[in-house]
Amino acid sequence: MNQLSIEAVEKMARERGLKMTPQRRAIIRFLQTAKNHPTPEEVLRAVNKEFPMASRATVYNTINWLKKNKMLKEIFEAGQVRLDPNCKDHHHFICKKCGKVEDVDFDLIPSLNLCNLPNSNRVESFELIMRGLCKECKNLA
Ligand SMILES: [Zn+2]
Ligand SMILES: [Zn+2]
Repeated sequence: MNQLSIEAVEKMARERGLKMTPQRRAIIRFLQTAKNHPTPEEVLRAVNKEFPMASRATVYNTINWLKKNKMLKEIFEAGQVRLDPNCKDHHHFICKKCGKVEDVDFDLIPSLNLCNLPNSNRVESFELIMRGLCKECKNLA
């Protein structure tokens, strides 16, 4: 499972006997195309345009359900949780001016030497957050 897709979620829901409601579908449809790592509140606002009755509980339950099934990742930035439909290993670039969070391909960054960490901790994966100015903000500066 790499990129969240409504087809994969429908299949999983069928296999596990879970009901797919129109609200759930709208949440997943929004998330699968979201490029901006939205917060749960942004998901709620977007889905509410289509389904004014979609409750906060429905949105959070659906998010938790997707997370549990490894179809959605979370990143933490500036005290906020953001959602990531890209479940492949990847890094992030965050613009310090507009706050945009972009994916950076894992293979673009050379591997790090992670053998000499304190306490002999064994690293199994890592994600980098790079900060700076995005293309648009750089051109305005
Ligand atoms: Zn920017
Ligand atoms: Zn990402």
